[in-house]
Amino acid sequence: MPEQKTISILGSSGSIGMQSLEVISSISGNYSLGFLTVNKNIDLLAQQIEKFNPYGVAIKDEKAYTEFKHKSSFKGKILCGEEGLCEAASYPECDIVISSLVGFSGVNPTLAAIRAGKTIALANKETLVSAGSIITNEARRHSATIIPVDSEHNAVLQCLIGEERKSVEKIILTASGGPFLKTSIEEFVNLTVSDALDHPNWSMGNKVTIDSATMMNKGFEIIEACWLFDYPSDKIDVLIHPQSIVHSMVQFIDGSVKAQLGPPDMRLPIAYALSYPGRFELSFPKLDLTQIVNLSFYHPDQSRFPCLSLAYEALKTGGTATSALNAANEIAVEAFLNERISFTKIPELIADSMAKAPYKSEPSLEDIIECDSATRKICENYIKSPVN
Ligand code: MG
Repeated sequence: MPEQKTISILGSSGSIGMQSLEVISSISGNYSLGFLTVNKNIDLLAQQIEKFNPYGVAIKDEKAYTEFKHKSSFKGKILCGEEGLCEAASYPECDIVISSLVGFSGVNPTLAAIRAGKTIALANKETLVSAGSIITNEARRHSATIIPVDSEHNAVLQCLIGEERKSVEKIILTASGGPFLKTSIEEFVNLTVSDALDHPNWSMGNKVTIDSATMMNKGFEIIEACWLFDYPSDKIDVLIHPQSIVHSMVQFIDGSVKAQLGPPDMRLPIAYALSYPGRFELSFPKLDLTQIVNLSFYHPDQSRFPCLSLAYEALKTGGTATSALNAANEIAVEAFLNERISFTKIPELIADSMAKAPYKSEPSLEDIIECDSATRKICENYIKSPVN
């Protein structure tokens, strides 16, 4: 009988959080739930408590916490605020923490889990984009293992198993290209929020779906790959692969290429992150290779997707440049989702904000936090009073 493991989920009401719970319930037996955390969706949290019986919960929003305390008969531990999320992340009895928070707000709770030496199933890519040096250094220092949940990086991890570092020629991240893969540049200015949220292959949260439409998501994933696998950006390529069947590849010095294939279903990388280096027997739909007519690959058109170039640029500059990139992107995407700006304004705002953002080449966590909040203000000001 394998030893019982305890899993906590930071962000259990989000898309990855909910799919993680589906995975956990389908592998029931050797797993128990530590903490579930939400920002303010206490109705969904109540349903999750009912169904999954966690040890405790943490609610970030203070008002939602008070309401929950008042209404709920939950007997487990109930924590509040970012502090509560950090306490939940470092809960001593927990073995694996799924970090599926969205954006920079995930940095502190993810760091808390790392400093407690947990195994982190990381879906919150913005933590690596924004604070990659701190996250990876702290993980080394506290012997915490970071396993990527992002499907591309999860695929790369699978391709790298058993290989020597020096044998790797390049990592090839695949990109679906998002909903605007074939949209002409003239049409971009009229794209609406619902056009952008209509992703052809993947079902994801709103933020990552917009990032996918601008291809900033792929830019972030290049940065994420650099930190996770410790390769320079010139060893990381991106290929558009509209079918989303090959989740990424590694090309070796002898010309051999290893790819990881599977249906576009986030539950599979989540499950692999939880079972790594082993595998669970799962009953989710499997790939029928005879039904795949075509697998195509081609280079992305950076002129139509300037966010990709902005990400490469930030990565080359290093230091807090990627923190500024992330902060400006979070503000711009939110403004687009709230219909305050047009789709084409997203990369413009990011470029302008990055140019004005404070810069440190070897930042501390405090420098990163400062750069993040300064860039948010700069970007917000551009939205409020556009200077043209
Ligand atoms: Mg991805």
